[in-house]
Amino acid sequence: MSTTPDASSPPAEGREPLPPGATVGILGGGQLGRMSAMAAARLGYRCHVFAPDGDSPGMQIAAATTVAAYEDAEALRRFAAAVDVVTFEFENVPAETLEVLAPLAPCRPGVEVLRICQDRFAEKEFLERAGVPVAPWRAVRSPGDLRAAVAAIGLPAVLKTTRLGYDGRGQTVLRRAEEAEAAFDRLEPKPLILEAFVPFRAEVSAIVARAADGSLAVFDAVENRHRDHILDMSLAPARVPEGVAAAARGHAARVAAALGLVGVLALEMFLLPDGALLGNEIAPRPHNSGHWTLDACFASQFEQHVRAVVGLPLADPARHHDAVMRNLVGPAGLAAWPGIVRRGRSAAHLYGKNEARPGRKLGHATRLLPLGALAGLDEAELAFDL
Ligand code: AMP
Repeated sequence: MSTTPDASSPPAEGREPLPPGATVGILGGGQLGRMSAMAAARLGYRCHVFAPDGDSPGMQIAAATTVAAYEDAEALRRFAAAVDVVTFEFENVPAETLEVLAPLAPCRPGVEVLRICQDRFAEKEFLERAGVPVAPWRAVRSPGDLRAAVAAIGLPAVLKTTRLGYDGRGQTVLRRAEEAEAAFDRLEPKPLILEAFVPFRAEVSAIVARAADGSLAVFDAVENRHRDHILDMSLAPARVPEGVAAAARGHAARVAAALGLVGVLALEMFLLPDGALLGNEIAPRPHNSGHWTLDACFASQFEQHVRAVVGLPLADPARHHDAVMRNLVGPAGLAAWPGIVRRGRSAAHLYGKNEARPGRKLGHATRLLPLGALAGLDEAELAFDL
């Protein structure tokens, strides 16, 4: 298996961690950067958020901000000069942005990690090489490719863009061969990928932190439920046999090691009826399915990310409670907020977004349960008011 170490300079193995008061540069202004910056502040670091939109969730709580396009080389150079290390909070930052920054400041994770995770072809090949099975897939660059892919894989199948897809955007399920051509024309940007439709029993993810010295800290695997293609709920721990949970954690750890990651990643997987796991997607950053770690673990995914990036040792990823995390999405999520705060029974998080557009993740709430209690809850109990 090939390893692709982060092309980054200090702090690295054997080097000192960045001292308290140092500045972490974060590309991206969303809630993942906001919660990373809050974790950094708790550890005594400052954050400088670089994003194209002002008043973003991350910028509201950052020590310094740059509002500029990711292509603005001059602004990037000034940013690099003002920070001690650079990280990113979403993987659609252009790889060229990290290429401009890399000679000027350590970038963690590095550009190679970003490139692999931005491209579903590279990602699938990487997962296979790392020993994580994936659903059968074919590259689709033309209508002819698609016909051949449908013949090889069969239907139903899922046709996806290879870049810039998230929350179910940029993909469609093909059930009949006649649908193929219109779907090919509609999905942009090209090229596309056709994947076998996976009749999964559950969607599972595992989050792992990896430090520059290669040490790993893996959180418990969780079960994720979606509504309208957007994560609705994460159950921690996943209600699966221990062997499955261990395999999920093992897959995530193998991917982080094979990438030479410095930071945190989430590996999203499908659990098949026979207990096998298939890798679906790598997110090389803190992930929505890890928000429960803020309240149910001694150190959250955001703290682990900051620790890795500044060169501190990773913390114990142990979980001290079972947890159910619910996303607050769009106007309905906002409408639920006053009740959640009033009841005061769950850990409540709001991201400071200025508009409650449909489909937008505005916050989340996490209900904590005694260790072991989640396994005993039925569906009605799971749907409790937070
Ligand atoms: P993705 O953008 O790849 O994370 O896909 C978003 C969601 O679409 C997943 O969380 C699944 O619920 C569903 N999905 C994606 N790929 C497949 C597949 N090959 N088979 C069945 N469902 C899929």
